[in-house]
Amino acid sequence: DELISQIAAGEVVERPASVVRELVDNALDAGATQINVKLMAGGVRAIVVEDDGLGIPPAELPLALKRHATSKIRSLDELESVSTMGFRGEALAAISSVAEMAIATRCEGAPHAHRLEARSGELKVAARSRGTSVEVRELFFNTPARRKFLKTDATELAHCLESVRRHALARPDVGFAVWHEGKLVEQWRAGPAEQRLRDVLGEDFFGSSRAVYAEAGPLRIYGRAGLPEAARSRSDMQYVYVNGRYVRDKLIAHGIRSAYEDQLHGSRQPSYVLFIDIAPDRVDVNVHPTKIEVRFRDGREIHQQVRYAVQDALALSRA
Ligand code: ADP
Ligand code: MG
Repeated sequence: DELISQIAAGEVVERPASVVRELVDNALDAGATQINVKLMAGGVRAIVVEDDGLGIPPAELPLALKRHATSKIRSLDELESVSTMGFRGEALAAISSVAEMAIATRCEGAPHAHRLEARSGELKVAARSRGTSVEVRELFFNTPARRKFLKTDATELAHCLESVRRHALARPDVGFAVWHEGKLVEQWRAGPAEQRLRDVLGEDFFGSSRAVYAEAGPLRIYGRAGLPEAARSRSDMQYVYVNGRYVRDKLIAHGIRSAYEDQLHGSRQPSYVLFIDIAPDRVDVNVHPTKIEVRFRDGREIHQQVRYAVQDALALSRA
């Protein structure tokens, strides 16, 4: 079982940023309004994600670490219409098989917090306010081959920050803060969606982009698309979300790109952040363990609507 978990971990946990992604997903699912991410050595030494969400009842705490134990899905039907970030019940089990893990958590009205040490199974009384802290230390300590693939701390930190950025763009209603080696390196306060886009992507992007908004039946497309003249040599400012989940999708990327027609010179890359809301039964999010890929039922329709939506936004700027 340990081995199976480690293999499964390979699909879910590639580097510290994958751990950050999963832990922040969980914090959001728990209804957190503030999420603090504390990293040491780019997350390789330590990743601590603290939230002020619902907490985990002590009786469920050991279960949270078991494979395929999820509190979020109760039937196959629900799998079709998942709205939570997690749903496979695999992340904590996978992470705890390739790192040292501890969870401290407290529910509303509980007299105190509990702390579970994954490896020893030791459960102790602890002190903290409502919410959950998950601590992950020495990632890949027991799989040296994988540990060797990790890059410098600075690179791993950059990936961790990108992971938080992706969440932060989608959830302006939640505050995020990231510390590295005890220093606050990024902080986004909860507020209006537009302010969050400005804070995360910068005023430069904001000023050289246009609002996207389109509705077509059960499909809603919104966000911002960078003007063609602000296109960059790198594709690092391309964010697409489907029902609030960050995805990488060739079809959507192509739809957006085609809206620029011949206005992008050479290999220049447009910048954009696009949110696509669609009826859950029109999209399969269960394609990939990290949930980063999706499959649409009406791919061509989506492609066309995305293209139109971005075209409209860009045309506005030419007027
Ligand atoms: P999943 O998110 O797919 O359910 P995970 O392995 O990520 O699976 O988490 C297992 C379970 O642990 C969750 O279903 C949830 O009940 C609990 N859990 C994990 N993290 C938190 C958190 N930050 N706050 C509250 N509950 C949590
Ligand atoms: Mg999860």
